[in-house]
Amino acid sequence: MKRLYNALNLKKLQTLKELGINFVEPIAEFKEPEIELPNDIYKLEAIVKECYLCELSKTRKNVVFGEGDINTKLMFVGEGPGATEDNTGRPFVGRAGELLTKMIENVLNIPRSSVYIANIVKCRPPNNRVPTAKEALTCKPYLQKQIEIIKPKLIVTLGSTAYNYLTNDTTAISKVRGNLFDMKDYWVLPTFHPSYLLRNPSAKKEAYLDMLKIKEFLQKDK
Ligand code: URA
Repeated sequence: MKRLYNALNLKKLQTLKELGINFVEPIAEFKEPEIELPNDIYKLEAIVKECYLCELSKTRKNVVFGEGDINTKLMFVGEGPGATEDNTGRPFVGRAGELLTKMIENVLNIPRSSVYIANIVKCRPPNNRVPTAKEALTCKPYLQKQIEIIKPKLIVTLGSTAYNYLTNDTTAISKVRGNLFDMKDYWVLPTFHPSYLLRNPSAKKEAYLDMLKIKEFLQKDK
Protein backbone atom coordinates (compact mmCIF):
# COMPACT_ATOMS: atom_id res chain seq x y z
CA MET A 1 0.00 0.00 0.00
CA LYS A 2 2.80 2.35 1.01
CA ARG A 3 4.72 1.45 -2.16
CA LEU A 4 1.69 2.21 -4.32
CA TYR A 5 1.18 5.52 -2.55
CA ASN A 6 4.86 6.45 -3.08
CA ALA A 7 4.72 5.40 -6.75
CA LEU A 8 1.60 7.55 -7.30
CA ASN A 9 3.26 10.50 -5.58
CA LEU A 10 6.36 10.08 -7.73
CA LYS A 11 4.24 9.98 -10.84
CA LYS A 12 2.44 13.14 -9.75
CA LEU A 13 5.79 14.88 -9.14
CA GLN A 14 7.04 13.77 -12.56
CA THR A 15 3.94 15.16 -14.25
CA LEU A 16 4.30 18.46 -12.41
CA LYS A 17 8.00 18.58 -13.34
CA GLU A 18 7.07 18.08 -17.00
CA LEU A 19 4.74 21.08 -16.64
CA GLY A 20 7.76 23.09 -15.44
CA ILE A 21 6.93 23.06 -11.73
CA ASN A 22 9.92 22.21 -9.57
CA PHE A 23 9.88 21.14 -5.98
CA VAL A 24 12.50 21.58 -3.37
CA GLU A 25 12.44 19.34 -0.34
CA PRO A 26 12.09 21.66 2.65
CA ILE A 27 15.07 21.35 4.96
CA ALA A 28 14.07 21.00 8.57
CA GLU A 29 15.30 24.01 10.47
CA PHE A 30 18.26 23.00 12.61
CA LYS A 31 17.85 24.05 16.16
CA GLU A 32 20.19 23.20 18.98
CA PRO A 33 18.04 21.12 21.34
CA GLU A 34 17.43 23.13 24.45
CA ILE A 35 17.87 20.80 27.36
CA GLU A 36 15.54 21.70 30.14
CA LEU A 37 17.58 21.38 33.31
CA PRO A 38 15.75 20.36 36.50
CA ASN A 39 15.15 22.75 39.38
CA ASP A 40 16.18 20.09 41.85
CA ILE A 41 19.86 20.16 42.79
CA TYR A 42 20.11 16.37 43.17
CA LYS A 43 18.47 15.72 39.79
CA LEU A 44 20.77 18.33 38.27
CA GLU A 45 23.79 16.65 39.84
CA ALA A 46 22.72 13.29 38.38
CA ILE A 47 22.55 14.86 34.90
CA VAL A 48 25.91 16.63 35.20
CA LYS A 49 27.55 13.41 36.37
CA GLU A 50 26.49 11.80 33.08
CA CYS A 51 27.60 14.71 30.89
CA TYR A 52 29.68 13.99 27.81
CA LEU A 53 29.14 17.30 26.01
CA CYS A 54 32.78 18.35 25.85
CA GLU A 55 36.27 16.93 25.50
CA LEU A 56 36.94 17.13 29.24
CA SER A 57 34.57 14.20 29.81
CA LYS A 58 37.07 11.95 28.02
CA THR A 59 39.89 12.51 30.48
CA ARG A 60 38.09 13.11 33.78
CA LYS A 61 38.05 10.56 36.57
CA ASN A 62 35.16 12.17 38.40
CA VAL A 63 32.73 14.99 37.71
CA VAL A 64 33.12 17.67 40.37
CA PHE A 65 29.61 19.05 40.62
CA GLY A 66 29.98 21.28 43.68
CA GLU A 67 29.12 20.97 47.37
CA GLY A 68 27.88 22.83 50.38
CA ASP A 69 24.77 24.35 51.87
CA ILE A 70 22.12 24.83 49.20
CA ASN A 71 20.35 27.36 51.43
CA THR A 72 23.41 29.57 51.73
CA LYS A 73 23.69 33.27 50.92
CA LEU A 74 27.31 32.86 49.91
CA MET A 75 28.71 30.94 46.99
CA PHE A 76 32.31 30.57 45.77
CA VAL A 77 33.05 29.84 42.13
CA GLY A 78 36.45 28.61 40.96
CA GLU A 79 37.84 27.75 37.55
CA GLY A 80 37.79 23.98 37.38
CA PRO A 81 38.86 20.87 39.26
CA GLY A 82 42.52 20.01 39.75
CA ALA A 83 44.06 16.57 40.30
CA THR A 84 42.85 16.09 43.91
CA GLU A 85 39.36 17.25 43.02
CA ASP A 86 39.29 14.93 39.99
CA ASN A 87 40.32 12.02 42.21
CA THR A 88 37.78 12.73 44.93
CA GLY A 89 34.87 14.32 43.04
CA ARG A 90 34.89 17.26 45.50
CA PRO A 91 35.70 20.94 44.79
CA PHE A 92 38.68 22.73 46.37
CA VAL A 93 40.16 19.89 48.40
CA GLY A 94 43.79 20.17 47.22
CA ARG A 95 46.35 22.75 48.38
CA ALA A 96 44.38 25.68 46.97
CA GLY A 97 41.29 24.24 48.63
CA GLU A 98 43.03 24.12 51.99
CA LEU A 99 43.82 27.79 51.69
CA LEU A 100 40.27 28.62 50.62
CA THR A 101 38.93 26.66 53.59
CA LYS A 102 41.21 28.64 55.94
CA MET A 103 40.04 31.92 54.41
CA ILE A 104 36.41 30.92 54.96
CA GLU A 105 36.82 29.49 58.44
CA ASN A 106 39.48 31.78 59.91
CA VAL A 107 38.57 35.11 58.34
CA LEU A 108 34.85 34.87 57.66
CA ASN A 109 34.48 32.78 60.82
CA ILE A 110 31.94 30.44 59.29
CA PRO A 111 32.22 26.71 58.59
CA ARG A 112 33.11 25.75 55.02
CA SER A 113 30.02 23.53 55.00
CA SER A 114 27.81 26.64 55.41
CA VAL A 115 28.71 28.02 51.96
CA TYR A 116 28.38 26.50 48.49
CA ILE A 117 31.46 25.87 46.36
CA ALA A 118 31.37 25.20 42.62
CA ASN A 119 33.43 25.72 39.49
CA ILE A 120 33.00 27.08 35.97
CA VAL A 121 33.82 23.64 34.49
CA LYS A 122 32.90 20.47 36.29
CA CYS A 123 35.62 18.26 34.83
CA ARG A 124 39.38 18.62 35.16
CA PRO A 125 41.18 20.19 32.21
CA PRO A 126 44.23 17.99 31.42
CA ASN A 127 47.43 19.25 33.10
CA ASN A 128 45.36 21.91 34.86
CA ARG A 129 45.24 24.07 31.75
CA VAL A 130 42.72 26.91 31.61
CA PRO A 131 39.40 25.64 30.21
CA THR A 132 38.74 26.67 26.61
CA ALA A 133 35.88 29.05 25.87
CA LYS A 134 33.98 26.16 24.30
CA GLU A 135 34.37 24.02 27.42
CA ALA A 136 33.45 26.87 29.76
CA LEU A 137 30.40 27.90 27.74
CA THR A 138 29.21 24.32 27.31
CA CYS A 139 29.36 23.84 31.08
CA LYS A 140 27.99 27.27 32.05
CA PRO A 141 24.28 26.32 32.00
CA TYR A 142 24.98 23.87 34.82
CA LEU A 143 26.48 26.61 36.98
CA GLN A 144 23.65 28.97 36.04
CA LYS A 145 21.13 26.35 37.15
CA GLN A 146 23.01 25.82 40.41
CA ILE A 147 22.83 29.57 41.02
CA GLU A 148 19.14 29.64 40.10
CA ILE A 149 18.40 26.86 42.58
CA ILE A 150 20.62 28.08 45.44
CA LYS A 151 19.82 31.79 44.98
CA PRO A 152 22.92 33.13 46.74
CA LYS A 153 23.05 36.83 47.60
CA LEU A 154 26.78 37.01 46.97
CA ILE A 155 29.02 35.05 44.61
CA VAL A 156 32.75 35.29 45.17
CA THR A 157 34.58 34.47 41.97
CA LEU A 158 38.06 33.05 42.44
CA GLY A 159 40.48 34.19 39.75
CA SER A 160 39.94 35.65 36.31
CA THR A 161 38.39 32.61 34.57
CA ALA A 162 35.54 32.44 37.07
CA TYR A 163 34.97 36.20 36.96
CA ASN A 164 35.17 36.48 33.16
CA TYR A 165 32.78 33.63 32.39
CA LEU A 166 30.28 34.38 35.12
CA THR A 167 29.95 38.07 34.31
CA ASN A 168 30.94 38.11 30.61
CA ASP A 169 33.35 40.88 31.52
CA THR A 170 36.94 40.42 30.40
CA THR A 171 38.51 43.10 32.63
CA ALA A 172 41.66 41.89 34.38
CA ILE A 173 41.18 40.47 37.86
CA SER A 174 43.71 42.94 39.31
CA LYS A 175 41.40 45.80 38.24
CA VAL A 176 38.12 44.36 39.49
CA ARG A 177 39.06 42.46 42.65
CA GLY A 178 37.51 43.61 45.86
CA ASN A 179 34.67 45.43 44.08
CA LEU A 180 31.02 44.52 44.33
CA PHE A 181 29.13 44.10 41.04
CA ASP A 182 25.35 44.09 40.89
CA MET A 183 24.17 41.22 38.69
CA LYS A 184 20.48 41.94 39.50
CA ASP A 185 19.75 38.54 41.07
CA TYR A 186 22.96 38.49 43.11
CA TRP A 187 26.16 40.42 43.76
CA VAL A 188 29.56 39.34 42.52
CA LEU A 189 32.80 40.01 44.34
CA PRO A 190 35.90 38.90 42.44
CA THR A 191 39.04 38.01 44.31
CA PHE A 192 42.31 36.23 43.54
CA HIS A 193 42.34 32.48 43.02
CA PRO A 194 43.87 30.67 46.03
CA SER A 195 46.37 28.94 43.66
CA TYR A 196 47.58 32.41 42.67
CA LEU A 197 47.92 33.31 46.35
CA LEU A 198 50.05 30.21 46.92
CA ARG A 199 52.37 31.34 44.13
CA ASN A 200 52.25 35.03 45.10
CA PRO A 201 51.96 35.26 48.89
CA SER A 202 52.30 39.05 48.79
CA ALA A 203 48.79 39.22 47.23
CA LYS A 204 47.34 37.68 50.40
CA LYS A 205 47.01 41.17 51.90
CA GLU A 206 44.55 42.17 49.20
CA ALA A 207 42.74 38.85 49.42
CA TYR A 208 42.38 39.43 53.16
CA LEU A 209 40.79 42.83 52.51
CA ASP A 210 38.41 41.15 50.05
CA MET A 211 37.44 38.65 52.74
CA LEU A 212 36.68 41.50 55.13
CA LYS A 213 34.44 43.03 52.49
CA ILE A 214 32.59 39.72 52.16
CA LYS A 215 32.21 39.59 55.93
CA GLU A 216 30.82 43.11 55.98
CA PHE A 217 28.36 42.24 53.19
CA LEU A 218 27.11 39.19 55.12
CA GLN A 219 26.77 41.17 58.34
CA LYS A 220 24.82 43.97 56.63
CA ASP A 221 22.54 41.43 54.99
CA LYS A 222 21.55 39.80 58.31
N1 URA B 1 40.96 25.13 41.54
C1 URA B 1 39.72 25.43 41.13
O1 URA B 1 39.51 26.41 40.41
N2 URA B 1 38.73 24.66 41.54
C2 URA B 1 38.88 23.61 42.32
O2 URA B 1 37.90 22.93 42.65
C3 URA B 1 40.19 23.32 42.75
C4 URA B 1 41.22 24.08 42.35
